[in-house]
Amino acid sequence: MSKLTKKVALVTGGSRGIGAAIAKRLAADGATVAITYAKDANAASSVVKSIEAAGGKAIAIQADAANAQAVKAAVDKTVSTFGGIDVLVNNAGTAIPKTFEETTLEEIDRMFNINVRGVMVATQAALKHMKTGGRIIMIGSCVGERMMTPGLVPYSATKGAVKMFTQGLSREVGSRGITVNNVQPGPIDTDLNPAAGDWATPQKANTALDRFGTPDEVAALVSFVAGPESSYITGANLTVDGGTNA
Ligand code: NDP
Repeated sequence: MSKLTKKVALVTGGSRGIGAAIAKRLAADGATVAITYAKDANAASSVVKSIEAAGGKAIAIQADAANAQAVKAAVDKTVSTFGGIDVLVNNAGTAIPKTFEETTLEEIDRMFNINVRGVMVATQAALKHMKTGGRIIMIGSCVGERMMTPGLVPYSATKGAVKMFTQGLSREVGSRGITVNNVQPGPIDTDLNPAAGDWATPQKANTALDRFGTPDEVAALVSFVAGPESSYITGANLTVDGGTNA
C-alpha cells in the first residue's frame, strides 16, 4: 500500500506548473486525484492521461478560481465522483508583476479573487465533506513572509493573507483532526515564473542555492504534508525556497 492509497485529493490549478507536479506526485503516492484548470483543457487532459498511464485515477474539472460557483461545483464533483475528499491543495494562483502605482484596480481584484477569495471558497466547500485526517494545504509563497524585490506588492499581500488564513483556520478545525498548512515556494521554474525570464536574475541571486527550484521539489513537500507522517504539523508555514528567506 502506498501512503495515500484510498485518499482523494483535489488540486486546484493542476494542469500546469507546480499544480501538475503535485497532482502527479499525489497520484504516484496512491491518491485518486481531481484537478481544476481555468483555460487550458488540453494541458489538464494530458495530466489526467499521464496519471492514468501510470495506473492511477484522475479527472479534470474546468473551474475558474475567481468564480465561486464553479469552485464549489468542482469540490462537489470531486466528492460525487470519488466518494469524498481527504486532501485539498489550494494551488491555483496568479501574479501580475508591475509596480504598485501602475497596477489597476481590476488587476488587484483579480489577484485577490484567485489567490485569496478562491482559496477560501474552495476550503469552505471542502470542509463540509472532510473527515478526521483531512489535509488542507495552501500554496502560498516565500514573499508572503519576506519581500526582496519591487513589482509584487499586491501579490505578496495575497500570499501574506494566505499565511494568516492558514494559521487562523488551523485553530478552528484542529479539533476535527484536520490539519491546515501553507507550503511557501520560492522561485520555481514554471510558465508563471520562467527561470529564463526577465525577472529571473534577481530571484536566483536571492537564493542561497543559486538556482531556481523545480515543481517536483515543491510537490515532494506537499506529498509529505498530505501524508500520515505530518500528523502533528498544523498552522505551519513550510518554505521551499532554496534559502531565499534565510
Ligand atoms: P502556472 O501559471 O505555471 O500554472 C498555473 C496553473 O493554475 C495552471 O494549471 C492554470 O491552468 C491554473 N490556473 C491559473 N489561473 C487559474 C484560475 N483563475 N482558476 C483555476 N486555475 C487557474 O503557475 P505556477 O505553477 O508557477 O504557480 C502555482 C502556484 O504556486 C500559484 O499559487 C503561485 O502563486 C505559487 N507560487 C509560484 C511560484 C513560482 O515561482 N512559480 C513561487 C511561489 C508561489 P490554466 O492554464 O487552465 O489557466
